[in-house]
Amino acid sequence: MDDCLFCKIAERDIPCEKVYEDQDVLAFLDIHPINPGHTLVIPKKHAADISALTRADFERLMGCVHALAPIVKKAVQADGINIGMNNGGAAGQLVFHAHLHIIPRYQNDGFRHWHGNPYGNGEIRAVAEKIRSAVAN
Ligand code: AMP
Ligand code: ZN
Repeated sequence: MDDCLFCKIAERDIPCEKVYEDQDVLAFLDIHPINPGHTLVIPKKHAADISALTRADFERLMGCVHALAPIVKKAVQADGINIGMNNGGAAGQLVFHAHLHIIPRYQNDGFRHWHGNPYGNGEIRAVAEKIRSAVAN
């Protein structure tokens, strides 16, 4: 797609620090990492976010993430790994070409998880029912 940063990286119009590539998927280092080794895994074919990916596309991406995460962890001697995907501006997506983050983590590295908020009275069941009925349809 014209004017998509990650399409340009996939097409090699913009350079990247590639760590893995196959026919469908490219993995390269995030230029603004949470920790060194922070890796992005993208489909070569443009899709804006998870809802634009087929199940097969997503499974290929996740297969790559599954294989790479322990390799990245070992290579940078991390204590743990976060896997993340931001979908939509409200979720923090900045580049609208689907991608997964493999984020090496260290004890006390200062990166903070989100804080959860408690449900109101009866709210958890109502929300679960909303989702269950959407799943059923
Ligand atoms: P997201 O918020 O999930 O859309 O994340 C986009 C990520 O892309 C950010 O973590 C950026 O640091 C990263 N990024 C932006 N431009 C580049 C680039 N040219 N090469 C590698 N990573 C990039
Ligand atoms: Zn793209």
